[in-house]
Amino acid sequence: MVSKLVKIVIDYTKCVGDADKICVEICPVSVFLDSKSEKPKIVNEKHCIQCRTCEVNCPSQAIKILT
Ligand code: SF4
Repeated sequence: MVSKLVKIVIDYTKCVGDADKICVEICPVSVFLDSKSEKPKIVNEKHCIQCRTCEVNCPSQAIKILT
């Protein structure tokens, strides 16, 4: 089975990148990378299973899952 391509977009004008970085914590396949002083980065986009947990739970609606 061929997996559908997904594009993940973080709007950094909305992302607050606070201490919790809920997307880093909540993603089941570790798509996002935390770094202590910066906002989250997308590092494993191809692993995304399109569960939309990050999109739904981001407190500033900064993440979009485009399929
Ligand atoms: S949609 Fe699910 S698998 Fe994809 S980045 Fe968000 S939390 Fe991770």
